[in-house]
Amino acid sequence: MHYVSTRGGSGRRRFEEVLLAGLAEDGGLFVPEAWPRWTRADFEGLRGCDYPTTAAAVLRPFVADAFDPSELAELCRAAYANFAHAATAPLVQLAADDWLLELFHGPTLAFKDFALQILARMFESVLARRGGRLTIVAATSGDTGSAAIHAVAGRRQMAIVVLHPHGRISPVQRRQMTTVDAANVLNLAIEGTFDDCQALLKALFADADLRAELGLAAINSINWARIAAQAAYYVYAALRLGGLERPPIFAVPTGNFGDVYAGHVARHLGLPVRRLIVATNRNDILARFFTTGIYARGEVVPTRSPSMDIQVASNFERLLFELGGHDPGRVREWMRRFADSGHIRIDEAILRQLACLWAGGTADEAETLATMSAVYAQTGEIVDPHTAVGIAVGRRLRQPGEGPLVCLATAHPAKFPHAVREAIGREPPVPPRLAQMTERTERFEVLPAELPRLRERIRAFATGRG
Ligand SMILES: *Cc1c(COP(=O)(O)O)cnc(C)c1O
Repeated sequence: MHYVSTRGGSGRRRFEEVLLAGLAEDGGLFVPEAWPRWTRADFEGLRGCDYPTTAAAVLRPFVADAFDPSELAELCRAAYANFAHAATAPLVQLAADDWLLELFHGPTLAFKDFALQILARMFESVLARRGGRLTIVAATSGDTGSAAIHAVAGRRQMAIVVLHPHGRISPVQRRQMTTVDAANVLNLAIEGTFDDCQALLKALFADADLRAELGLAAINSINWARIAAQAAYYVYAALRLGGLERPPIFAVPTGNFGDVYAGHVARHLGLPVRRLIVATNRNDILARFFTTGIYARGEVVPTRSPSMDIQVASNFERLLFELGGHDPGRVREWMRRFADSGHIRIDEAILRQLACLWAGGTADEAETLATMSAVYAQTGEIVDPHTAVGIAVGRRLRQPGEGPLVCLATAHPAKFPHAVREAIGREPPVPPRLAQMTERTERFEVLPAELPRLRERIRAFATGRG
């Protein structure tokens, strides 16, 4: 198994390099050179298997010889051992043929734990073999930072620095990051906006000398290993709902297009999937694309589902690569046009072909709250606003008799108590993991949004000077 860049400038790479590099040097994203393809028997063999076994089987063709099968199995077992539900990713029934796939039982109560728990262990294993150190630097407006900190805390040969906009993230999200007590974790509250944090991060990574000196690494959602790890829960859920005979429709609350694209990866592997529904909040660049064939940037507006408040979906380039017939020249041309004019359009013929496999839709704030309230009234289940966007759009777009609808529950409702109170008039019960956090001391430093100060702070931290 080799990987190539969507922009054609990286040559053929092995999994280990793709894991550590994140983004390709030419600015493109890594994709498999050819898709592995499972037989029916491969899928049947996983019926009834537990989550870590399923995850190891799905990851195996993608990691190839980077980890031998027994090590991969061990990494997966350890990654999912501290999830708070014995099924890891349980299915909950909402209506006769509607299901919730709960992806929020990990340490930080959002689906990002599924990828980051395994990614950090893969990093640690590769470093143990090769030697050297990594300093992971991330900017966050919400769930990624906490999932990354919980995954990396206490691991050997690795440190993590997370930038968040000072005073601009929710108290729950801040506490999830700042109450982790480990010497290899540094939280920096930047005096500025999330965009300032991202600009600083970009500037750090643009400095090739600093990157080499400190072994800077990124773990954002374009990392191929994260996508591959997420493909596993699509396989796990489909096998539990009637297996290969009744292909499900998956409705996925979407921002950066990583999670729903992982469903597409499962489909490439051979999993029968009826359709993938891309559900967005008012930041609807992708919903508009799947209905009109036009990918056009818009203004970001804040919503109750902040992890989806994105108007440029980084992982979308992977789909463009396929739509352009695996021609990196076309991807470069599309990305250049998008950078220049803020929009691109695909051919009618390609759009028609997409409509068999994909659909896109938007739920506004009122519909999100109404869905939370309706689900609670009908079933007693409390869902978070991100999940509600998926349910609203999934129910609107599914056709009669189309098959089971599986809505991905991407965050635990207790992470968004205010929105839950607005929708159903009470706050959700607080799970023990979240309750314990409020008693712990917070650790973070406030820094101005200035590159030289930030660079020196990270250098001192990464070289063990405090
Ligand atoms: C990150 C996130 C999303 C969006 O996922 P993408 O992979 O960026 O499309 C949706 N819901 C929650 C709760 C998230 O944390």
